[in-house]
Amino acid sequence: MIEHVVIVGGGTAGWLSAGMIAANKHKYSNSTPKITLIESPNIKTLGVGEGTWPSMRNTLQQIGINEREFIKSCNVSLKQGSQFKGWRDGSIQDSYYHPFITPPGYYECDLHTHWQSLAPEMPFADFVSVQSCVCDHKKAPKQFATPDYAGVTNYGYHLDASKFAELLKDHCTDKLNVNYICDDVIGVNTDDNNNITSLVLAKHDELHLDLVIDCSGMHSLLIDKHYGVEFQRCDDVLFNDSALATHLPYSDDNEQIESATVATAQEAGWTWDIGLQTRRGVGYTYSSRHSTDEQAEQVLRDYIRKTSNDRLAQSVDVRKISFTPGYRKQFWVKNCLAVGMSAGFFEPLEASALAMVELSLTMLTEEFPVDHNHMTMLSERFNNRFTYRWQRVVDFLKLHYLFNTRDEPYWVDARDDQSTPNSLKQLLQIWQYQAPNRHDLTQNEEVFPSASYQYVLYGLGFIPKVSKTLSLAQQQQAQRLFQQNRENQSRFIQALPGNRELVTHIKSKVA
Ligand SMILES: Cc1cc2nc3c(=O)[nH]c(=O)nc-3n(C[C@H](O)[C@H](O)[C@H](O)COP(=O)(O)OP(=O)(O)OC[C@H]3O[C@@H](n4cnc5c(N)ncnc54)[C@H](O)[C@@H]3O)c2cc1C
Repeated sequence: MIEHVVIVGGGTAGWLSAGMIAANKHKYSNSTPKITLIESPNIKTLGVGEGTWPSMRNTLQQIGINEREFIKSCNVSLKQGSQFKGWRDGSIQDSYYHPFITPPGYYECDLHTHWQSLAPEMPFADFVSVQSCVCDHKKAPKQFATPDYAGVTNYGYHLDASKFAELLKDHCTDKLNVNYICDDVIGVNTDDNNNITSLVLAKHDELHLDLVIDCSGMHSLLIDKHYGVEFQRCDDVLFNDSALATHLPYSDDNEQIESATVATAQEAGWTWDIGLQTRRGVGYTYSSRHSTDEQAEQVLRDYIRKTSNDRLAQSVDVRKISFTPGYRKQFWVKNCLAVGMSAGFFEPLEASALAMVELSLTMLTEEFPVDHNHMTMLSERFNNRFTYRWQRVVDFLKLHYLFNTRDEPYWVDARDDQSTPNSLKQLLQIWQYQAPNRHDLTQNEEVFPSASYQYVLYGLGFIPKVSKTLSLAQQQQAQRLFQQNRENQSRFIQALPGNRELVTHIKSKVA
């Protein structure tokens, strides 16, 4: 029986795990386990990870967090996708969006062919959706009166990661009965089967458990240090292994807040720019094979100079984070499941890390183990499902690099056929003849749906070998969808408040 679940680690992954497992207790057959989270007083959390997917709305609702309080206490703004600048040729006009919305009519007709025949000069995302236009105008995804967690367009969040972990901690300990221990795990005891039976703590009594979630971040305390699970490195495909991060103030309190994460290609990687309520989170992720730390810092400071001012460019403190891109060959071993950075990490492109945490916890809480025998079966299913998911993330991230014509060695290497996984090459071959569609991606709950592949592929200027011809009826349908989208764009721009206006309004309503 699973009577005690212990989570090691108090970063975003640890507290999301505690919240999700505790909030879903009523679903577990035969058990309502006690939950304890243990966090080291000596090892800091990562404190980055500021962009989420729309799935976070459902996660927070499940955990029972009030959206307005979350927006107020975690410096939140609303995110509607990502904007990529300079990823084709680096020219001023080189920009495209990957918005969160699935284009209206997506499942009824081949939007790509319609776009090619009706308005090929228009950016694909503008042709098929309202959201790129909404983001260009820095508008919010909802009106003042839209209920909590609902949206007029689809949205996730930009947030302060440290404040988010604090809010989750308060909520889990006050409302969800999660026990909290601040101590170092210094040892592990196991039974004859190598299941972990207890953790040895520096200052507290031994902690007995039935299931342990390893959320110890890059320390991978249990999945690596205890179980020695091999790491699947992906740096031959995705080169970025370093990041420099900083925070920048706005020039004034009323400066508009971007509605998308802005990802700008740089000489050996790309910069992210995330607008929160009171500051921007800015950073540069790059390949240490293609840049020294000094060169990287210069790139970041130049970016700050261009988008902020000279004084800040010279004076801000910059923090370096190193990582090895890749994932574990197994995530769930015996009675230990790795969630978060301990399971794996790639560069923050498309902000998929917290989404993978959410997906892991959804599967765990929907298929919560009854006993050790059940756990063995579930762990195998989990490992198969998540190996597939991590591979799909690699493919999707790599896609962003393949069609560049930039001449810096990093970008030349990044588009090299040798560094492209075969699974992605096969998809690219079929996309010469037909647009990405649901038959390309065969599992339920794919991490990135085929609409995302279309946004990136056509945003990057991919031109298929074969263009289809449309029947008269299809042309009429296309024209109707296009017209509707144009009308909606102007309606939405008029009706939606600015991103800053909305969060200011929401904050004013919280006591
Ligand atoms: C540059 C960068 C940008 C990112 N941007 C995004 C983004 O935009 N969106 C996104 O979804 N993700 C992003 N991520 C990933 C995101 O930051 C992580 O997924 C998230 O912070 C979760 O981290 P974690 O909880 O797994 O680990 P951590 O935050 O590192 O927490 C580890 C915890 O383990 C504890 N611990 C370690 N060893 C012990 C021990 N022996 N005993 C007890 N406790 C221990 C520590 O005290 C700590 O509490 C980014 C990552 C990086 C590096």
